[in-house]
Amino acid sequence: MAATPLLSPLYDPVTTVLSVVLAVYTAYVALDMAKRVRSADSVLARGWMVGGGFIMGLGIWSMHFEGMVAHEWPFAVAYDGLWSGLSFVLAIASGSWALWVSKQDAWLRRAWLIPAPGMAAGLLAMHYAGMMALKVSPGITWQWPWVAASVGLAYATGLLTFLVTPWFRGERRALYGGRQAGASVLLGLVLFAMHFAGMKAISYPAGTVCLSLDGLGGHSLTVLIALASVLVLTSTWVTSRLDARHQKRAAHLSQSLQRADAQLQRVAQVDGLTGLANRLVLEDHLTRAIHRAEEHHRRIALLYIDLDGFKPINDSFGHHFGDNLLRSVAQRLQEVGRKGDTVARIGGDEFVVLINGNPDASSAALVASRVKEALHRPFEVEGREVTLSCSIGAVLYPDHGPKGKLIARADAAMTAAKHSGGNMHCFYEERMEHDVQRSVELQRDLRRAMEDRDGLSLHYQPKIDGRTGQVMGVEALLRWQHPERGSISPTEFIPIAERFGLIGRLGQWVIDESCRQIQQWMQMGLRMRVAINLSVHQLRQADLPDQVQAALQRYEVPPELITFEVTESAAMEDPQASLRIFDRLSQIHVSLSIDDFGTGYSSLSYLRKLPARQLKIDRSFVQDLDREDDARSIVMAVIKLAHALGLEVVAEGVETQAQQDILRELGCDQLQGFLYAKPMAADTLQQWALGDDDARPHDVDADGGGEGGAIRPDFRDSLFTPDEPPRPQP
Ligand code: C2E
Ligand code: CA
Ligand code: CA
Repeated sequence: MAATPLLSPLYDPVTTVLSVVLAVYTAYVALDMAKRVRSADSVLARGWMVGGGFIMGLGIWSMHFEGMVAHEWPFAVAYDGLWSGLSFVLAIASGSWALWVSKQDAWLRRAWLIPAPGMAAGLLAMHYAGMMALKVSPGITWQWPWVAASVGLAYATGLLTFLVTPWFRGERRALYGGRQAGASVLLGLVLFAMHFAGMKAISYPAGTVCLSLDGLGGHSLTVLIALASVLVLTSTWVTSRLDARHQKRAAHLSQSLQRADAQLQRVAQVDGLTGLANRLVLEDHLTRAIHRAEEHHRRIALLYIDLDGFKPINDSFGHHFGDNLLRSVAQRLQEVGRKGDTVARIGGDEFVVLINGNPDASSAALVASRVKEALHRPFEVEGREVTLSCSIGAVLYPDHGPKGKLIARADAAMTAAKHSGGNMHCFYEERMEHDVQRSVELQRDLRRAMEDRDGLSLHYQPKIDGRTGQVMGVEALLRWQHPERGSISPTEFIPIAERFGLIGRLGQWVIDESCRQIQQWMQMGLRMRVAINLSVHQLRQADLPDQVQAALQRYEVPPELITFEVTESAAMEDPQASLRIFDRLSQIHVSLSIDDFGTGYSSLSYLRKLPARQLKIDRSFVQDLDREDDARSIVMAVIKLAHALGLEVVAEGVETQAQQDILRELGCDQLQGFLYAKPMAADTLQQWALGDDDARPHDVDADGGGEGGAIRPDFRDSLFTPDEPPRPQP
């Protein structure tokens, strides 16, 4: 008859539970290791692969061993060392296989085909080899349905393993922690079930004896093995967690390092507003360009570009507008620069173009003209059209000096271009560097002069009636007596005051001082009209009319005695803003005069809108009057135009009799110039006015005051009778 199954369903509950726990724990650690073998660090990953396979094998094997020991055998048992060893090796093989597959995405996707059967084969082989370690006589009786069940469950273990591993790829423990525990319990149970079925698949007939009593055995040994594997698994798990954290931190660190590095690189190289190179990059490119130039005996050129009148645009249209304009400028400059050239922005509205390719002076000048043309085309920004010009300083290397000074010298040349009126380029000359130094020093001294009220004064130059020769008023002109350098021209220090932000206070002082002087003259019985020059920067001061009014009140000066002279180009720089200020000034009844007329580009329609009373023809036209017919016809046209607009015309810079005669003939209302008087201090002017010829600081030519010569106004008369309004011209 068939063998009586001896294998009773008697299990030692503690060992059984221990076995199940081991199965679950192994699965948990295995899932952790499946993540580790995907580590970015290939050496680490390989280490985890080898170590992990061993540890998983150990876990599976001890779980299996415990499971076997859990049975209460009806005969004395011990396990054959060779077979036990073989089953251990097979356990490691299937653990390694599982780990290896968990790394192969392609294999994982078809886990059912090879990976799961592979792992199942490993597990089954491990299991039945382990059973063989129990050498018995007369032999095993197979329970085939249970064999089949064990095969099915082994396959299920494999399949389940590969189905769940992809869930645990990331390192988001918070998300996966719970899942991992659940998956491990499931896996552990299936594994144990497989083992259980495997045990059921074997039975022994009665009278069976174990032949391997000299092999491994004893409860204490199994407990030891179980403990050892728990220890190994635990340390593995801890190491795995630590490694995970370390890797996570390392990955995080390297990511943020990369980000910071990229950011630094960008910040260090690119001008944030325009995307052009910044100063650092420019200097770097310059160094390299000079190296190459020296090596091949070539030249390089550097253009230093500064926009003319950018600040008032920025001030009146807003910084957003200014920024957009700068971006458009940058774009045009980039279009001018050729491949290999560097275009950089190195300050507010300052740009540099570094020209490679062996340029000489004429080709550098050509690029400069291209830059001027490019920037002169109207810009369309935020629905407005703006036209710009620029001043360019040019240097050549090696012609214009050592590397360390190139940019500074190009800057000095640019400043020279700007001082010459802007909208041009200048090549560096030696004197320019001194100019830059000088202006920095002058600015410092001017500040001090303003604080100490020392060295600054106003001089007054008369304006003469073109028909009667009477004095119609004076123009106040600022003078600065420098303690060491002597007299400094306002054409030099006023632009410096503008550049260094001193013009507001200086202009205020001029207004105050003029009013004080008018009051003093009034106390002497003299009503003198005074014309005060306004800088374009003062026109941008919204509180200018208030300042003027305050000064008028303080010195009790009637506003009709004050005229403000504003150059045509200043008035045109921001026509709308100028118009607002002019309107407010005319509301307080001071008058307005357009200075240096003919040098700007005013439109007739705009001129008509201005509440101006007077127009001053620029000196350059007057000076050409007796030499060039062109000048004469221009002056004639201007006078006609001004009269048509109801403006009176002043000719400035009248130096000769001939000029005077022409101007009178053309119907010019007022004349001003060295022919009559140079600008004088207030007390000199008084003496001159009283007819003291010695007090006249200057006569243009010997017979300037002779018979039939210049008009000899009856000064006493005109100065001591109230100023008459100009007679209308026919
Ligand atoms: P501007 O307003 O055109 O002043 C006339 C300039 O021509 C004065 O030069 C005057 O001395 C000079 N001038 C007068 N008659 C003749 C002449 O017959 N021949 C020649 N060659 N020159 C003559 P100055 O005093 O050196 O002033 C130069 C410029 O400085 C002025 O030109 C004006 O733009 C500016 N300026 C002077 N004082 C002030 C001031 O208080 N405020 C402002 N914002 N600018 C001032
Ligand atoms: Ca003037
Ligand atoms: Ca003038």
